Amino acid sequence: MLKIILFLLAGTIIVAATWLLAAIPGHVAASIGAFSIETSTPVAILMLVALVVALTLLIRVVRGVLAIPRTGAAWRRRHRRALGEKAVTRVLVALAAGEPGAARKEARRARDFLGDSPQTLLLVAEAGRLSGREDEAAEAFRALTAHKEAQFLGFRGLLRQAVDRQDWPEALVIANQAEAAHPGTLWLRQQRADLALQTENWAEALELIGPDPLRPTYYVAAANAEADPVRALSFAKQAWKQDPAFPPAVLAYASRLRTTGREKRAQACIAEAWQRAPHPDLSTFALAPQSDKLARAQAAKRLTVRNPTHPESRILLAQVALDAGLTGEARHQVESAQREGLNQRRLCLLLAEIEAQERGETEAGRLAQREALRRAASADPDPHWQCIKCHADNATWQPKCESCGSVGTVQWVSGVRTSGLPVIQAAQIAG
Ligand SMILES: [Zn+2]
Repeated sequence: MLKIILFLLAGTIIVAATWLLAAIPGHVAASIGAFSIETSTPVAILMLVALVVALTLLIRVVRGVLAIPRTGAAWRRRHRRALGEKAVTRVLVALAAGEPGAARKEARRARDFLGDSPQTLLLVAEAGRLSGREDEAAEAFRALTAHKEAQFLGFRGLLRQAVDRQDWPEALVIANQAEAAHPGTLWLRQQRADLALQTENWAEALELIGPDPLRPTYYVAAANAEADPVRALSFAKQAWKQDPAFPPAVLAYASRLRTTGREKRAQACIAEAWQRAPHPDLSTFALAPQSDKLARAQAAKRLTVRNPTHPESRILLAQVALDAGLTGEARHQVESAQREGLNQRRLCLLLAEIEAQERGETEAGRLAQREALRRAASADPDPHWQCIKCHADNATWQPKCESCGSVGTVQWVSGVRTSGLPVIQAAQIAG
């Protein structure tokens, strides 16, 4: 309805204008060189309007022709961009589908079409990693670090590569660069903590790692690595406070107490730990100042007084009694332990020594020794330090497995085997 009204209105205006135009009186004459024209005023006005319209159209056509090269370049740019975006989508699909060949090919196409943008560089790097072309990935990650807003992504990729090839010094340098580029990220903090553990920088690891059941292990390692005795004592005390039943922590603290002249306090820590979780390393430390064999036997009695029937107490008491020539007491402890269910090699060997001391080179003595040694061959293995990850034996406790390099995996394990695997005899077993 509105259109009809507008149409009628426009028609009325045109008719009125034409009528007004036709009513204008007079003539117009013009001459250019030999060419002359003479017409009425309305026709002259119409010709002028037609000329203006023709000129306007001509200018538009000329401008359009002149703009052809420019619009062609823009079209080509748009076309390349569209192809590049298609290639980006294909890379993402190939990466998600785990197709390294397609991902690498499309990533190269995306880079050709779109140039070295952070997105294309990241795709090239990830496709390179998926294809096992670490050199290509590294080149793209390095190029990424040149983009200020995306340099963290570049450092992150380079750090992952350095960690994968276990190049710890290089990884540390990159981690520091990444921290400078984008400080305070949780992921980077975890990476730096892992690096600190791998490079045995225990003090830094303790600063970076939050709550962790292995903190006592890190404190012991930090104390052992620390040159400053005051800081070493502080680390050792923290280890002991956090786990007063963990023999390495107790020994780290007690040994530093001993070196600073606080022998009584050191012995108290050991006795307390023995009550919680007896361990041969504790008794070795506690009895070390005693050289007299009877004095050692008495010191062992004092150490075990609050936990006398624990297998470790019985074995310690048997050993020191045997050393002191008290074979009756030694035999009593060994046989008690056996009655209580312990069947370890060290018990059989102790019994063989007792037989040797008591009966000497007699026929009965030789028979008894032979029987004890025969039983030793089939007895359970003795407890020892072992890595729970690679199952390699470690002669002493270490914060890091000497065989596989894992941190915090060396534990005190019993030799009793069930289902073919050693059972962890927690050093923390309460007596
Ligand atoms: Zn290991």
